[in-house]
Amino acid sequence: MTTSLLDLPIGELAEGVKGGRFGAEELVEESLRRIEAGRELGAFLHVSAEAARRAARELDARRARGEALGPLAGVPVAVKDSLCTLDAPTTCASRILERAPGDGWRSPYDATAVARLRAADAVIIGKTNLDEFAMGSSTTTGAFGPALSPWDRTRVAGGSSGGSAVSVAAGLTPGALGSDTGGSVRQPAALSGVLGVKPSAGRVSRYGLVAFASSLDQIGPLARDARSAALLLEVIAGADPSDSTSARRPVGRYQAACDAEARGLRVGVPAEYFAEGLDPLVRASVEAALKGLEAAGMTLEPVALPHTRYGVATYYVLATAEASSNLARFDGVRFGRRDERPGDELSALYGRTRAAGFGAEVKRRILLGTYVLSAGYYDAYYVKAERARALIQQDFDRAFARVDVIATPASPTPAWRLDEHPDDPLAAYLADAYTLPASLAGLAGLSVPCEPTPASATRPALPVGLQLLAPAFAEERLFTVAAAWERLSPAPRRRPPEAGG
Ligand code: GLN
Repeated sequence: MTTSLLDLPIGELAEGVKGGRFGAEELVEESLRRIEAGRELGAFLHVSAEAARRAARELDARRARGEALGPLAGVPVAVKDSLCTLDAPTTCASRILERAPGDGWRSPYDATAVARLRAADAVIIGKTNLDEFAMGSSTTTGAFGPALSPWDRTRVAGGSSGGSAVSVAAGLTPGALGSDTGGSVRQPAALSGVLGVKPSAGRVSRYGLVAFASSLDQIGPLARDARSAALLLEVIAGADPSDSTSARRPVGRYQAACDAEARGLRVGVPAEYFAEGLDPLVRASVEAALKGLEAAGMTLEPVALPHTRYGVATYYVLATAEASSNLARFDGVRFGRRDERPGDELSALYGRTRAAGFGAEVKRRILLGTYVLSAGYYDAYYVKAERARALIQQDFDRAFARVDVIATPASPTPAWRLDEHPDDPLAAYLADAYTLPASLAGLAGLSVPCEPTPASATRPALPVGLQLLAPAFAEERLFTVAAAWERLSPAPRRRPPEAGG
């Protein structure tokens, strides 16, 4: 394993640039070099090399002139390709947004989270791979190939923010942004061995995030450690006049929370998340982590979340319903390929354009969502799912009356092989069982790496994620517990064997 400047925590990188210990250009070149060396991992759909170099040179010049730099000075950050960016195409890993093959749609504005990164003097290095329109748990449903686990290239990185997780896990960038609708930051973080945060509903502006299921979508950071993720979240969180659903509450002091005392915190352990279907080695790793929290002075308490088993069905009704509505705008008129039959625009738009547009998983979701919203089925599916969502929320409300955080596995299994269950959508949907309920309830959540599974004759060592959940807008508690856990569990053991270049 090679060591690199980029292995430093994000706050130290920014301090190093501000103090002149190294230049933003140095960090950007190192990141570009690593991205190039790790190209086969499929983490990036677009690398903004020239724009990143220009931004880095400007930062170094500003420092040389004695100007103060922001909290992310010179830090290379990768951004999921469902976030709009000015200096790169935005594809959502789909062909529907292309004007012609290879000619991606360019947004006329930055997503608010991206604009805030830039305002903090981060350097946006490129756009990362995802499942098409963020629909999936594997980063294999996109139009431009899969992202591969740096732990074992025959395995998935998780998804849908798999490219962002791989970028951080393989040390291509020290941080990244993803989006989490039903687990798409927490699950790839877990499967790739990095820390990923799903902020509370409304904590981060969704302006400029291409919508999948608006009542569930949240942008969240991925990084190697809690404090780095905390810094990224402090920068991107907060009210935004461009997103009326963003919360006006003040942003928490998430970095300071990493130093707060965890002793005495009550950690709820729901039996429903340790039942059938949980891989025994994942269970062993998560239970060892729970013992560690106890040894560090936290108390473990059983909690009941009886409606957990309705989570998958409820989510896949509501998320597909919202997706079918959100994706109706990609009708081939405003977006979509026009190159099929020049001179005959309408047949190009309504003929081959659509077929060349969406992949199979997105079509399945649109059909399912349209069905559950259609007259005659609306009450049977959509309305019932809204009721189930309320019951799931009540479960959490009751549990959080007794405990400060809830701890569970983030995923029932470690990363699966690329050739496992590719044609079985239901098997893939069940893999989300542990992340979906918190999304339905709008909670704050994160996944922090615990001990990887031991290597065996049939499986190499693979990362495992400990999921921590807190009530909405109580992100601080997550950072306090995650940082306490990191102090108990030395980071080097959690690096993939072939990180970086
Ligand atoms: N895996 C879930 C899905 O396929 C969640 C995806 C997400 O969070 N974007 O819908």
